[in-house]
Amino acid sequence: METRLSHFTTFRLGGPCRELIAVADAAAAMDVVRTWNAAGKPWRVMGGGSNLLVADSGIPESVLRIAAETPDCRLDATGLLEVSAASPLDAVAAFAAECGQGGLGFASGIPGTVGGGLCGNAGAFGRQLGDVLDRVEILTPAGELRQLPRAAVEFGYRSSALPRMGDVVVRAWFRTEAGDRAALRAEREEIRALRREKHPDWRVEPTAGSFFKNLPPANPGEPRRAAGRFLEQAGAKTMREGGAYVFAKHANIVIAGPGATARDVVALTTRMAAAVRERFGIALEPEVRHWPNLTFMG
Ligand SMILES: Cc1cc2nc3c(=O)[nH]c(=O)nc-3n(C[C@H](O)[C@H](O)[C@H](O)COP(=O)(O)OP(=O)(O)OC[C@H]3O[C@@H](n4cnc5c(N)ncnc54)[C@H](O)[C@@H]3O)c2cc1C
Repeated sequence: METRLSHFTTFRLGGPCRELIAVADAAAAMDVVRTWNAAGKPWRVMGGGSNLLVADSGIPESVLRIAAETPDCRLDATGLLEVSAASPLDAVAAFAAECGQGGLGFASGIPGTVGGGLCGNAGAFGRQLGDVLDRVEILTPAGELRQLPRAAVEFGYRSSALPRMGDVVVRAWFRTEAGDRAALRAEREEIRALRREKHPDWRVEPTAGSFFKNLPPANPGEPRRAAGRFLEQAGAKTMREGGAYVFAKHANIVIAGPGATARDVVALTTRMAAAVRERFGIALEPEVRHWPNLTFMG
């Protein structure tokens, strides 16, 4: 049955897909993939839909949604934390802190799932999931379960080899270190408070977070340059296209306001990128993934 993807993305945008099946574990994911493969049905995978811009006309494929309300986590005596791909990333960070294990605090407050987070190497404050991954269990496009060591995932800045290989993450193991529970809780609360202050609440103001990737450092050893700074100087904060507008507190965050369409978001972000190109000669690259490949003129 046709399902509108706007119900499953934090932008609240996106037309229909052929069919959507939601699963929370590896066995269920494997069943669905094998059934679709046997029937010759093309498919895609999503998690929390917090890094996706889906076209208003939708997509022709079926969608496997790997997402759960609650985390599925197990910690062993060596500090290795096993989690399902469907687990909400923030809840995994909370679980680690409550167990007195450090290393995942930076992921506090990042929306979405572990699977989506690994696919895009989600991170904040200079740390990303690839830094703490030990190994991952994937379902190959042919529907076989395999484990990959961290090195095989080829993490980069907000990227991994997973989309290119077509692999579906079903489980992951993170390395954590013993720490002080009270200090870890405090770190987490501080990060969440900072995010509440700087970011919109996507439940109220639909968004997919930072739209463009930050830029490479100006000099080796320096931090990446915030795309938001260039956007702000290029005048992005006052830009609007249809129902889509730029968040007042952060020039790299686009909000899909009432009546917005994915087309509005594409028009707005194309204008934002053009303004940065004209003013600074810099080409911005979207961090948000487009389904299908919406024409973006950055
Ligand atoms: C308010 C807000 C703040 C944000 N802040 C940050 C931040 O600080 N840092 C940051 O990095 N990101 C941030 N994001 C973006 C987003 O939350 C992350 O990119 C997140 O990791 C995406 O996970 P998801 O489950 O929602 O993935 P989705 O959006 O569902 O999917 C994203 C990509 O991952 C793939 N994918 C999803 N699940 C799987 C799986 N199981 N196996 C293989 N591929 C899969 C999809 O095919 C798609 O290509 C923010 C978003 C919002 C709305």
